[in-house]
Amino acid sequence: MHLIITEKNIAADRIAHILAGKTYVEVKKDGGVNTYSFNDTVVVGLRGHVVEVDFEPGYTNWRSEVNTPRSLITAKTIKSPTDKKIVTLIQKLTKKADHVTIATDFDTEGELIGKETYDLVKAVKPDVRVDRSRFSAITEEEIQTAFAAPAELDFALAAAGEARQLIDLIWGASLTRFISLAAHRGGKNILSVGRVQSPTLAMIVDREKEIEAFVPEPYWVLTVDSKKDGEPVLARHTTARFTDLAQAEEAQAATRAPLAVTEVKEGSKIDRAPTPFDTTGFIVAASRLGFSAANAMRIAEDLYMHGYISYPRTDNTIYPKSLDLNGVLKTLQKTEFSSDVSWVQANRRPVPTQGKKSTTDHPPIHPSGAATRGELGDERWKVYELVVRRFLGTLSPDARWLTMKVLFTAGTEPYTTTGATLLEAGWRTVYPYSEAAEHPLPLFAVGDHLPIEQVNLDRKETQPPPRYTQSRLIQQMEELGLGTKSTRHEVIGKLVGRKYIEGTPLRPTLVGKAVIESLEDHAAAITRPDMTQTIDAHMQQIKERKRTRDDVVTESRTMLNRAFDELEGHQSQIGEDIMGRTVEEMILGPCPVCGSDLRIHHIRNSSQFIGCTRYPDCRFNIGLPLTQWGWAIRTDTVCPTHNLHHVRLIAKGSRPWDIGCPLCHHIESNRETMVLIPSMTEEILGRLQRHHIYTVHEVADATPDVLASAAAISPAAAELLKAEGESVLGLLRLRSELRKFVRKQVPPRRGRSHSKIMKYLHANEINTIADLAGADPALLRTAGIGEKEVTSLLSQARDYCNDKTLRTIGVPAISLKKYYAAGIQSPEDFCRYHPVYLSVKTGISPDTTYRHAEMVCLAQNRPVPQKVTRAMLERGRAELLTIPGLGETTIEKLYSGGVIDSTTLASADPAALASHSGIPLKKVQEFQSKIPGSSRAS
Ligand SMILES: [Zn+2]
Ligand SMILES: [Zn+2]
Repeated sequence: MHLIITEKNIAADRIAHILAGKTYVEVKKDGGVNTYSFNDTVVVGLRGHVVEVDFEPGYTNWRSEVNTPRSLITAKTIKSPTDKKIVTLIQKLTKKADHVTIATDFDTEGELIGKETYDLVKAVKPDVRVDRSRFSAITEEEIQTAFAAPAELDFALAAAGEARQLIDLIWGASLTRFISLAAHRGGKNILSVGRVQSPTLAMIVDREKEIEAFVPEPYWVLTVDSKKDGEPVLARHTTARFTDLAQAEEAQAATRAPLAVTEVKEGSKIDRAPTPFDTTGFIVAASRLGFSAANAMRIAEDLYMHGYISYPRTDNTIYPKSLDLNGVLKTLQKTEFSSDVSWVQANRRPVPTQGKKSTTDHPPIHPSGAATRGELGDERWKVYELVVRRFLGTLSPDARWLTMKVLFTAGTEPYTTTGATLLEAGWRTVYPYSEAAEHPLPLFAVGDHLPIEQVNLDRKETQPPPRYTQSRLIQQMEELGLGTKSTRHEVIGKLVGRKYIEGTPLRPTLVGKAVIESLEDHAAAITRPDMTQTIDAHMQQIKERKRTRDDVVTESRTMLNRAFDELEGHQSQIGEDIMGRTVEEMILGPCPVCGSDLRIHHIRNSSQFIGCTRYPDCRFNIGLPLTQWGWAIRTDTVCPTHNLHHVRLIAKGSRPWDIGCPLCHHIESNRETMVLIPSMTEEILGRLQRHHIYTVHEVADATPDVLASAAAISPAAAELLKAEGESVLGLLRLRSELRKFVRKQVPPRRGRSHSKIMKYLHANEINTIADLAGADPALLRTAGIGEKEVTSLLSQARDYCNDKTLRTIGVPAISLKKYYAAGIQSPEDFCRYHPVYLSVKTGISPDTTYRHAEMVCLAQNRPVPQKVTRAMLERGRAELLTIPGLGETTIEKLYSGGVIDSTTLASADPAALASHSGIPLKKVQEFQSKIPGSSRAS
């Protein structure tokens, strides 16, 4: 059997159908993975890398004393499967195969994936024949050719990929840990550092610093408005920028009508047709259409997998001889570009345009299949059209412009104007993405005199260098040798994802700046492209078989160790630097009380609040929900009233929760409780808020003097306000206790709003757990609590209240446990049952149960039962047992009715005793009649 392994499932599908020709391809799922079979061939797709490299076990604890960040430099690494299903399937199929072809993507990454697959295959069948097919587009012709002449796996290329993978892992892991630990950052807030990532971030930070340091300089531009044949003409002074205002004004004063034409120069300019697309060129062009780098690559890869365009990861900008340009044109003839194709065929340039780079692996990106707008959808079509039109452009003639330059004098001053018109559109006919900006000029002749309508002297300023756009950054990375065609857009994506950079164009965030500035101060090598360039040069040497993988990895370990020598000496300083530089991102704005800064504080990764930086002198603070509901960060929006940054809670996997201005939120959420204070009016509330008294707590805490002056009320009214505040505070505490209780018993779930339930309960005067214990079940059901939940909620509430009462009365917890176990639950039970019964049921001594019963009865204003000693009990028991038919079980029942001996039995009211003890009335009367010496005996 012939097993073919591709990089992705979709490639497997297409390759199987191309190779099968007219033969039926059977599609089957095997262990959850698609397989495509025809004749004696099976095609399977991987999901990219199916094994991953990581450190051997024992390195997961970041704070380990032994396995320090530095120890990761030399830690052993292991490979383990990331997709067990696929690995199992590949090995299962290999056992049946006599020939395996690796058909992963044709680049370093693809070769590495191929090598990983090779190892998996050889592990189960060492003698199986393995070969490799390489292709640049998944088209009929390319695939047939590639599979007709398979080659060998390029182990050197794979080794280069492997070296890069290892080095990136070692660098990223050790530096990330070191920096994060130094700055006391963990969890979601680690500070990632990487071999390519950090120099790239440094470029953005450095550009931002240039912009910040830029001092604009003024300059003046002198122009005149004129007219020729009714057309407006703008002529510029030949000194394009006057840096000296006096000179500019002198020239302005010397400018006199008429504007006399002294020279007319005509010429023509060649406008070269665009060169073929490499990855960077493609990303730059796609970004002009509004695609981010990552998005453009994602779509291009998808188009490649479906056979519409060639492999999009390429550094090549020269079409190889082997590429059948006519064949591509023929294919495009079948698309809606057929008229453009015909135009190109009629006007084709003798040799296609060429860029500067020729590599042997892939041709430049070009169309490889015909597509329609309908089958691709909007986005993919835009990218496909770009690739098609670029291809057509590279085969088209250059465009030609007619240029015109006119020189004038006005008084003594020289002026000029230029114009251009398109003579031959050339490639612009088929590639409309860069607009041809024409400036046609009226006809001028030497000696023409034009009027001067106005002389303009405009002040302008020099501009700072622009921030990087994504595509400009990718170009710059390419120039500096940072990353590869395959990784550059991913690196930028990571920097955005880690919140180091943001916006379009890109700016560094505070954290991004802090990390780079601190590294630049203490281990500049990590932020400079040199080291990365050196390593990339080494990769090249591995590919060319001039060095081995191990040799290169070892050297990089040495480089990293040197960086750590610098870093470790400054660990605490680096940490302080970063923390000092990032504190600003937690600062929200002025404290309403003292005007210092308010900032967000996080405590041990679990709780958070907003507090004043002048604490403890200023105690103003605003509570925030626990971090489990989201990590509080500030946003760029600022409250116009309070000048405070808005706060947002961000949690992984759920939508952010916008709190808005924390003070507006604080005021609004406390308003509801403030108005519970009976003498609170809107007016008083407003005045208190203006004096930064926002909460009931603050009202209760304030002195009457403070309240009186803040609310402009009399001392007596202030006293009352404070007292009312205290009692509302008490109510709020009870309500909060009730809320927690209800929340625990009736957990929140979708479609049930707890705050709604609570509001309803409060509106019906249920403010405490005791209120709840006595609540009408029907009312709870109306509040939105389910039938079953109501029953359990009520009984839980009763138990809770009983327990609280009994504890308050002083029954020790350890005894309560025994009472509860015996079914004695409430204060009522203590008063109803005789202490003797309580003792028998619980095993607690009768003296103790008597003491408990006495305490409870006194507290409940109920009669205290008669004290019974152990001796009385023993004697009584003996007496009772002499009564015929009266046994141990009956004695226990009699105890619960307060009967302990024949005397108490004789004097008991039979009906009451029966109902208390559960002994039938007839039996009670019978026992009473049989008491020896009883008057009731018959
Ligand atoms: Zn303050
Ligand atoms: Zn506000």
